[in-house]
Amino acid sequence: MKYKICSAVFAVVLLSVLASAQTVTEESYLRAREVLDKSVAAYGGLSKLRSIENFTLKAVGATVQRNQSRKTFAADRTPYRIDIVADLKGNRFSQIVQGGYPGGFRYHNGFTVDKTDGMSWDMIRKVTVARPNTAPAAMRQRLRYIPQMMIFNALDRASRLRSLGKADFFGRPHNVVSYSNEDALEIALYFDSVTNLLTKFETLGTDPFMGDVVTEVIFSGYKNDGSHPIAIGRVTKVGGEMTEDLRYEQLAFNTNPGDDAFKAPAEMPAMRPAPTNIDPVTKLSDNVYTVLAGGYNVLFVGFKDFIFVMESPGNDNVSRQAIEAVKKTIPGKSIRYIAVTHHHDDHAGGLRRYIAEGATLIAAPGEKTFFEKVAKSRFTIDPDALTLNPQPLKMELLDGGKRVLTDGTTTVEIHDIGSGPHTEEMLVAYLPNEKIVFQGDLLNRPANADYPIANDTSVHFAKWLESKKLAVERIIPVHGTVTTMDEMRKAVADMK
Ligand SMILES: [Zn+2]
Repeated sequence: MKYKICSAVFAVVLLSVLASAQTVTEESYLRAREVLDKSVAAYGGLSKLRSIENFTLKAVGATVQRNQSRKTFAADRTPYRIDIVADLKGNRFSQIVQGGYPGGFRYHNGFTVDKTDGMSWDMIRKVTVARPNTAPAAMRQRLRYIPQMMIFNALDRASRLRSLGKADFFGRPHNVVSYSNEDALEIALYFDSVTNLLTKFETLGTDPFMGDVVTEVIFSGYKNDGSHPIAIGRVTKVGGEMTEDLRYEQLAFNTNPGDDAFKAPAEMPAMRPAPTNIDPVTKLSDNVYTVLAGGYNVLFVGFKDFIFVMESPGNDNVSRQAIEAVKKTIPGKSIRYIAVTHHHDDHAGGLRRYIAEGATLIAAPGEKTFFEKVAKSRFTIDPDALTLNPQPLKMELLDGGKRVLTDGTTTVEIHDIGSGPHTEEMLVAYLPNEKIVFQGDLLNRPANADYPIANDTSVHFAKWLESKKLAVERIIPVHGTVTTMDEMRKAVADMK
């Protein structure tokens, strides 16, 4: 009853205030302001919110592998954990994450920032990298694990507040407001119209495969620690598909972490830097090259009448860079074929630009439906090459696990190495004249040429390679630098 009287008073006050709004912009702001103010009250009031000077978060759960699973359209789960300590007053921040990908890939790394200078480290390779001049906005994304931080953020940017009206979510009515953030995101906040607590936030962006896409970050519930409503977990969805599912093992405010919480682990040497200012195009032999675009290696081969490209990593922009280099290196020929090693977004995310170029996709049979869907995606926010120059998808599926391109002089064999720990189907290119194998994710090596670390996926690949008895001198990865057969054998042996 008390709530109803209170909200009736609110409504009368709001109506009279709205009547005095100068334009629809101010009216929208005032409606949003009312929603945000109610939420501030639900989180204990402004002074209670401002009393949060630091927090500790330990979250556990899973990465749900959207476009990184063994099969297309699947949602493999791999364990994930993140530990964050933030000192808001002292402008200090530290984070450690542990996770992985299907096929034995794992990462365990961290970073710490004090004011703007920071240090990141890799617990697996045991190396550090200095990170000077870290912009405060770079930390913003991490603060979004905590609903209270979103409320602060919206309050601090009040002139950007707008009302989006009402929407149902979780079967409950919500008031929705949006604001724009200093990291260039427009964020919609969904407040439960009964509790006035934040249920989720949304952003709109572009996904290289799907095009226009909504990212939803959902706070799955709250408990009360006697002083503050405390979020108990967070679920992330991209285009309606879950990508992360976290339970907050610990979220505590004002734990007053000591200086040690913001120090990098001692006795880790600095990582050897990768060479810079190198020519992105590497000539491997007459007509055979790689181009480094967006940090990925792309193979391209000039045949008598056409060009073959293998791998379209990243997104439309990475493919634009790669294609520019391809056309400059081999002028006067068109790209007739594009092949991708596998369907993961870091390997095929730039495919649509090759379709726009009129290239035919060479792919594994199990990827057909997936790439057909990718070719039909809608890109209105950030129109890509295929949107601006629509072309039908031309696809040739590997038949019998192998496809050979040759003009009598230059030869490329495309092989499916079969079901492995990373993917159900996996293509590699073998160039018999050059004794080169080009592969994605089967044996990665850092750009600074530090030793490669093998995993289950590398073991499977090494077995396939040895069984084929191909003459191979260089194994060129999409990620990182070249290895030899002996280096691969050593990496596999070291793993065992
Ligand atoms: Zn992959």
